[in-house]
Amino acid sequence: MADLAVIGAGPAGLAAALAAAAQGVTVAVVDSATEAGGQFYRQPASGLRARRPQALHHQWRTWERLKDGLTGSGVRLLTDHHVWSVERDSDGFTVHALLGPEQREPVAVRADAVLLATGGYERVLPFPGWTLPGVVTAGGAQAMLKGGLVAPGRRAVVAGTGPLLLPVATGL
Ligand SMILES: Cc1cc2nc3c(=O)[nH]c(=O)nc-3n(C[C@H](O)[C@H](O)[C@H](O)COP(=O)(O)OP(=O)(O)OC[C@H]3O[C@@H](n4cnc5c(N)ncnc54)[C@H](O)[C@@H]3O)c2cc1C
Repeated sequence: MADLAVIGAGPAGLAAALAAAAQGVTVAVVDSATEAGGQFYRQPASGLRARRPQALHHQWRTWERLKDGLTGSGVRLLTDHHVWSVERDSDGFTVHALLGPEQREPVAVRADAVLLATGGYERVLPFPGWTLPGVVTAGGAQAMLKGGLVAPGRRAVVAGTGPLLLPVATGL
């Protein structure tokens, strides 16, 4: 039983978990990904043995501080746990998760309180040609780079002016 269950091990969830643990709170962090980091600090698959994962990231020091902070913090990190529901009863909360890529094995995490840090998702507005082979979203291209160490092509046009496009263009 934890005092606090944090759902999401991105920058927000990790920062919250470490802040709570520093105050003596017993924390369990639950994330569906195989590694902590979330979208911002998405980690390359371990089998790729990336030598310089920081090359595709910005604010890497913040990630190191969060990652290193977990060691010895007492925070229990449960990766590969996909949360599908949270139940409340008179004793607190039960966070229900399914384990592993096939999401077959059920796991229940009990906690007095639950903090949702499940992040944001890329929302794509369709435009003519958006389903053509070779057309990917900025977030998709970045996820391929950071998670798979692959670029979606040899030459790229990065279309748009949002702030995510600059790190994506730099990464490509
Ligand atoms: C594709 C993409 C790329 C981005 N790249 C950048 C970038 O380069 N720079 C930038 O400043 N911002 C970027 N952003 C914006 C980004 O969302 C925030 O900067 C930052 O990651 C938000 O941190 P967070 O901790 O709130 O959420 P996230 O980092 O999104 O972390 C949420 C975590 O919750 C977990 N989670 C979600 N649902 C469940 C569930 N049901 N069960 C278990 N775990 C769950 C996820 O696996 C994830 O690890 C990007 C967003 C997206 C969608």
